[in-house]
Amino acid sequence: MHLTLPNEKHRYEMENLLRLFGVLHADGACALHISGDSAHALLTLDGRDYAHAAAVIRDANAPKLSNPIGAACITDADELALAQALGRCLLQATGRTPPWGLLTGVRPTKLFRRLVQRHGLDTTRAYFADALFVRPEKIALAEAIYRNQRAVLEETTPQSFSLYVGIPFCPTRCAYCSFVSHSITESKAQRLIPQYVEKLCEELAHTGMVAHALGLRLESVYFGGGTPTSLSAAQLDTLLTAVKTHFDLSTCREYTVEAGRPDTVTAEKFALLQSHGVGRVSVNPQTFSDAVLRTIGRAHTAQAARDAYALARQYGFAVNMDFIAGLPGDTPEGFAASIAEAIALAPENITVHALARKRAAALSQDGQSPPEDERDWQLEGVSAALTSAGYAPYYSYRQSKSLGALENTGWAKRHFASRYNIYMMEELHTVLSCGAGAVTKLKDPRGETIERVFNFKYPYEYVGRFAQILSRKDEILRFYGEIGQKN
Ligand code: SF4
Repeated sequence: MHLTLPNEKHRYEMENLLRLFGVLHADGACALHISGDSAHALLTLDGRDYAHAAAVIRDANAPKLSNPIGAACITDADELALAQALGRCLLQATGRTPPWGLLTGVRPTKLFRRLVQRHGLDTTRAYFADALFVRPEKIALAEAIYRNQRAVLEETTPQSFSLYVGIPFCPTRCAYCSFVSHSITESKAQRLIPQYVEKLCEELAHTGMVAHALGLRLESVYFGGGTPTSLSAAQLDTLLTAVKTHFDLSTCREYTVEAGRPDTVTAEKFALLQSHGVGRVSVNPQTFSDAVLRTIGRAHTAQAARDAYALARQYGFAVNMDFIAGLPGDTPEGFAASIAEAIALAPENITVHALARKRAAALSQDGQSPPEDERDWQLEGVSAALTSAGYAPYYSYRQSKSLGALENTGWAKRHFASRYNIYMMEELHTVLSCGAGAVTKLKDPRGETIERVFNFKYPYEYVGRFAQILSRKDEILRFYGEIGQKN
């Protein structure tokens, strides 16, 4: 396959689009050429030229909005026109429409919301359908999410912020994992963890001081990773105490700790979380099939996930459960059975992920093949089951290389939508993040400006170059100083 583009500028987004349609592969089966001719693009696939890719930049037929691009990856009107023309060629050549059409970005629902706020619901629906080729069921999903988020959207204030605490350790590494997460069984990790906890407490203290100096208001706290409950009860106690000491929790609406791996959960740890005011935990079975769990390298059984859930219930937590569609060895029927079991258990939140095959994951490196036909994996049946059980979709995001170009969606029972997930995915307010790999996201409350401040990715770097972690917190003060002057 060959695609000739008018210039280099649009290469990135067109590559994303080719990947979305499944015609761009790492094996070099597809090549992109830059012709330098600003008037046309040409797609050649399986020996056929798709003529109507020509003169696409001047394609005037596609619907346009006055400020149409918003948060999508597509950067300007020329690129949108090119994407639309290439999209039509790819539809014709492959006979497929990706679920989210031409949208290749992480946050299609944020784009939907922003367009609704500017142009109204009808125009946004039509734009998603006609200009971006989004399938009707995904437009309906985006609209439902927009409606279900409204109460939380209205709560956020210019002073609002959330706190993220990153724990990059897990019991073992899952085959599909692409995060920087270290197995706690390694002796190197065992040596590192005490120093990591100590430095993280220092970072929390410093960050709390900055938040206080700026008069920010804490809305939610989220311990993620990794698996925070990989730490011992004493280490968790130290960190939760640091949060309590350095932040004003009186305004905090939601406090979540991920307890994703059932093999890390104990009554002692749950009692401790409860005593520190944690109200929500995430216990992540991913599947209720023992065979699939073995294939993906999770060192626990489905029964362990059921037991961890029952224990979380004893301590009165609201519970989220994560599941992944498309795991090796699973089938659409098997996945539907896992979701049916989750529904029967009745956690407050169920999050349905589409497997993303990231290059860094063992799954991608050991040659395990993806499901034979990704089109078998539609999530509509699962969505219907969740809806009829009283769950509503409340946030959604996409990852590259995901099964069937599908999305990840959080479902919640009434009044149990996770605020942190909405704040973060819709980029509603600043998230101050602590820990290795954590990214602080600074949001101008009166505009769309977002700046990121990155911590070191690996725990040994984080511990070893910690002075830099603290000095980067000055960026928070600078950002708020600058937007204060602007506003
Ligand atoms: S539990 Fe999550 S972070 Fe840990 S190894 Fe598995 S996928 Fe990675």
